[in-house]
Amino acid sequence: MLMRLLLQFPEGLKQYALEYAKKLESEGNEVVISASPTFGACDLALDEMRHVKADKLIHYGHAEFHHVDANVEYVPFSLDADLSILERSLPSVAQYKKIGLVTTIQHIHQLDDIKRFYEEHGKEVVIGKPHGFAKQNGQILGCDIGSASGIDRQVDAFVYFGGGIFHPLGALLQTTKPFLVVEPFRNSIEFIDKYRDIYKKRSRGKVLASLDAKRFGIMVSTKNGQHNMALGTMLKNRIEKQGLQAAILVANTFDFDALNNMMEFDAFVNTACPRIAIDDTDRLRKPLLSANELVEVLSFKSEAAKQQV
Ligand code: SF4
Repeated sequence: MLMRLLLQFPEGLKQYALEYAKKLESEGNEVVISASPTFGACDLALDEMRHVKADKLIHYGHAEFHHVDANVEYVPFSLDADLSILERSLPSVAQYKKIGLVTTIQHIHQLDDIKRFYEEHGKEVVIGKPHGFAKQNGQILGCDIGSASGIDRQVDAFVYFGGGIFHPLGALLQTTKPFLVVEPFRNSIEFIDKYRDIYKKRSRGKVLASLDAKRFGIMVSTKNGQHNMALGTMLKNRIEKQGLQAAILVANTFDFDALNNMMEFDAFVNTACPRIAIDDTDRLRKPLLSANELVEVLSFKSEAAKQQV
């Protein structure tokens, strides 16, 4: 059956959009391409789908995040990375007997080969289970690092295999063991443990910088997998109970220039993708807190108020 299709690609795959569109058109479909920034399957182009009256959304590059009431086809993108780099990682893991292995959806099909490689070199390899947004054992997402945190106690060190620092950084911050990143595209092998301290200090700095804040902007995203109005409302009530002001700010993708223009706010609180309050703090002039960091700020404030009485 011929359909009107809306195609959605993450940034790294947008370069192939025309090629895919022309192929589907040649099969007789009508095709529209989403040009919005795309961060994951938490971020389906459902509004665009409604506006262009598409029969189906084809989302490339990610596996399903959670069920949505729409006709969505997921086309995950597998990458066959060269595994010869593993040989060079052996000196780095020489002193560790039990290794926790994690990767992204792009390399999940290579996980068994990587596991076998380390086992053949005398290692015991543990592969954990995700919390739920990621679907495969050993897979991590920026917001689901269960495959790492769930086995933290069992292993001596972690090995992440894959591109970039985004995914391993989230896992690093929720684990305690040495964390090796084996990056086949940049051909690099490095421990990233130093970031634990850097991000802990950054978080402490944001909390301290918010202690005098009186007006909070609470960011609630309309993205299908990030929308959390209940959390936003709960945080607003909690702030107001302490005699402070809060407002819920809604957007699909938050634009940091627009937030910087909202100068009445002394601090912002993120309820959208949890990585925003970790990775994007430098893009705002005011502190950008996670929900947990806000709770810390409020409890410091209430302690300080008690001591003044
Ligand atoms: S880390 Fe953020 S962008 Fe990535 S899947 Fe999770 S919510 Fe979406």
